Amino acid sequence: MVPPPNELCGIPGFGLVPDQEIRHYIQNLGPAALKSSPTEAIKHRTFFGTLPLRQFKIFFIGDTLVVCTTKDISKGEEIYNCYGPHYCRMNRDERQAVLQSQYHFTCDCAACQGGDVDHHRFGAYKCPRCAGVVHTSTCLECDLIVDSSTMANLKARSTQCQKLFENACGLMNAQQYQAALAVFEQCREQRQEFLYKHHRDLALVQDALARCWASQGDFCTAADHLNASVEFARLLYGSRSLEYAHELHKLAEVLFNAGRVRECVDVADRCLHMFADLYPPGHKVLREVKELCEMAQKALVPQVNPR
Ligand SMILES: [Zn+2]
Ligand SMILES: [Zn+2]
Repeated sequence: MVPPPNELCGIPGFGLVPDQEIRHYIQNLGPAALKSSPTEAIKHRTFFGTLPLRQFKIFFIGDTLVVCTTKDISKGEEIYNCYGPHYCRMNRDERQAVLQSQYHFTCDCAACQGGDVDHHRFGAYKCPRCAGVVHTSTCLECDLIVDSSTMANLKARSTQCQKLFENACGLMNAQQYQAALAVFEQCREQRQEFLYKHHRDLALVQDALARCWASQGDFCTAADHLNASVEFARLLYGSRSLEYAHELHKLAEVLFNAGRVRECVDVADRCLHMFADLYPPGHKVLREVKELCEMAQKALVPQVNPR
């Protein structure tokens, strides 16, 4: 029987968190890239090794399991893989609860031991004095202690804004875009008053505004809002992450539709380079971005008027 993995807060994909991965037991796969069937993988479970996740990616092509690494793995090295709950997406308590209920063990990975210090800002209130990160009622930047009634007030405002957000989503789903935009804007303004600038709820509302504008055919305004949520993905998941690459893809499409082809070429090109590291050659996503890039480049070339 395979020993249980004991570090479960990694994330699938390259470039995310080299030190937060799961120990996963895999056969000796040898150097940089190889193919093997899942049954083979199970049969040859001869070693387990450590390898930072940024150097490792697994995917299926049909029923073939493909494991790619960007460096050689020596025999006996441990490889890390992700089981789902990741410290970029959930706080420590949420992760521990999921891991207990699904895998029945206590995770002791670096993120769980360290207490998510670097990630508090993505779910933090804004310090009323210095606009810094307030974590459990203390500002991590100026050490201000926020009193309990202020904290209670912040929580209440947060709940109110969540309701606004849900109402706006309902309006958007009912295709009442003008009404939805007004409520999303109200929600954004309020959230900006008391949430730390990198709070994930601010990024969510920017993304929703982008969707709303795009649904109305205003891709230019949509792109401006999308820029904010793309930047958030970079900060949260890392500049080589799958999440960031997919956000860039979305932005490139919106920029193309907005007629901002120069920006589109830049973003699509960046996205293409990232996807080339993340997906196998010929993958659907790679083809899509390539096509978009070519279309945008064509649109950049001045058209010659026939005489
Ligand atoms: Zn963990
Ligand atoms: Zn402060």
